[in-house]
Amino acid sequence: MVLRVEQDIFVVRQRGREVAAAVGLEHQDQVRMATALSEVARDLLRAVGGADVIFYAEPRPDGRWHLRVDLVPVGPLPDGRYVPQSGAVARLVDSLGVVGLGRDTVVRMSRRVPVTAQALTPERLAELRTELGRSVPGSALDELTAQNQQLIAALDEVRSQRDELAVLNTELEETNRGVMALYNQLSEELEETNRGVVALYAELDEKSAQLRAASESKSRFLANVSHELRAPVTAIIGLGRLLADSASDPLTEEQARQVGLIRSSAADLLNLVNELLDLAKAESGRIEPTWADVDLRPVFGQLRGTLRALATRPEVELVVEEPPSPAVLRTDEVLLAQVLRNLLHNGLKFTERGEVRLRASRRDEGWELTVTDTGPGIAPDLHDRIFEEFYQVPGTTRAYGTGLGLPYARRLVTLLGGTLHLDSEPGRGSTFTVALPASGA
Ligand code: ADP
Repeated sequence: MVLRVEQDIFVVRQRGREVAAAVGLEHQDQVRMATALSEVARDLLRAVGGADVIFYAEPRPDGRWHLRVDLVPVGPLPDGRYVPQSGAVARLVDSLGVVGLGRDTVVRMSRRVPVTAQALTPERLAELRTELGRSVPGSALDELTAQNQQLIAALDEVRSQRDELAVLNTELEETNRGVMALYNQLSEELEETNRGVVALYAELDEKSAQLRAASESKSRFLANVSHELRAPVTAIIGLGRLLADSASDPLTEEQARQVGLIRSSAADLLNLVNELLDLAKAESGRIEPTWADVDLRPVFGQLRGTLRALATRPEVELVVEEPPSPAVLRTDEVLLAQVLRNLLHNGLKFTERGEVRLRASRRDEGWELTVTDTGPGIAPDLHDRIFEEFYQVPGTTRAYGTGLGLPYARRLVTLLGGTLHLDSEPGRGSTFTVALPASGA
């Protein structure tokens, strides 16, 4: 097409739209292309007096078709540059710029053809060329009418977009309000939950204070009762000894037997009272460990000596192994010896044949002292119960005892900063393990 007079601008515009429609650009894009074209055409007409306009349908390397329009100016562009009068023009197409083409400088614009458009085969292009060649360009008035219609459509579109935007805004506002409401509700719920948790903690504190108070009064009661009982029981033992003394009046055989019963019962009772007193003391926190660096070897040696007297059964051997040296840990020697004596005593009490063995070994940062026996063993479901006060496994009670030894031992081990643990199964003996930190509690 040639562009030489004002009238041609309309024709170029109209043709531009027709070509755009023919290659398959969407309606909006057709208008955009036509508008850009008429703007550039007017600029070139004013600047250099006209141009030749050539339309190309062009496949690009990305496989897409582009509608390209070259406007070849009839004279040289000022400074060889082209800047559209209206800056918005460049935004109407995909690309708009100046390219050097041999001696000529060409203003080139292009727009991508949508993939949905009909395929531009050579036959189709030939067909389009004929169709476009046949169509007669309308008058300036026709084009003005068309342009007006397009303007109205564009304005309409803008309005409907604005309305849509307004609706979207309202929706957004509503959503925001919803989110805020939800947020407020959540914060309230959180606050309430927090209040609940705080109340729960307060209750828990109160309950543990009550529990502590109850436990303290139990310990106090035990301590008082056992203390009060000790004097009369000791008196009974003393009187029994007097009665049985050879210097006293002789007793009949039956009387001597009964006095013997009284004395052994009183001794049992004194033992119980003493153990109760010990336990009460341990529970009420009145036992303060005396911390010192303790060498296990002399402690073990002493246990070996004192407990040999208790190992009266020839079928049971008491083995106190020599601790690996150096065997020093920070603890209370007296309390530790008491615990081990207790465990060894139990072992000797309940084991009918085999051995009772004390062994010390280093474990991580501390020591493990184990008392193993080949006795009857203890069912796993009783492992916790035997550490309860007065609990004795049914069937083992024929051995003398109070059921207070293990709870007391565990108390002492806890005071020493360690744990007392049992591994045992019926028929496979028992292993009591005292685990202690090397550096004290
Ligand atoms: P006591 O030995 O005075 O009965 P303890 O608290 O020392 O009380 O032990 C509680 C119970 O645990 C014992 O009565 C016994 O039934 C059981 N028990 C303790 N040590 C052993 C052991 N080495 N083998 C088997 N049973 C044991």
